Amino acid sequence: MINPDLILPFYVSPNGDYGDATGLVVIDVQDFDDHFFGYLDECSDWLRPSYAEWFEDNPHDLETSIEDGCDVCKDWIDWAKA
Ligand SMILES: [Zn+2]
Repeated sequence: MINPDLILPFYVSPNGDYGDATGLVVIDVQDFDDHFFGYLDECSDWLRPSYAEWFEDNPHDLETSIEDGCDVCKDWIDWAKA
């Protein structure tokens, strides 16, 4: 249980989840394709918020499948892991 005396951003979602919202990223995925979700799955948990935020802010070839690979995403993930 979260200590209510802590001062931190807090989220509550309609599915009942709640918790510490520090570092939480909310993005619009309406125009995203499978390549976003594929790379999101490949990312470590701790990298996913920054990947999602970065993806939204940078142009990608949305015709690229994850099997074909996206050089933009690969370069970012390699950079982020370093
Ligand atoms: Zn990409």
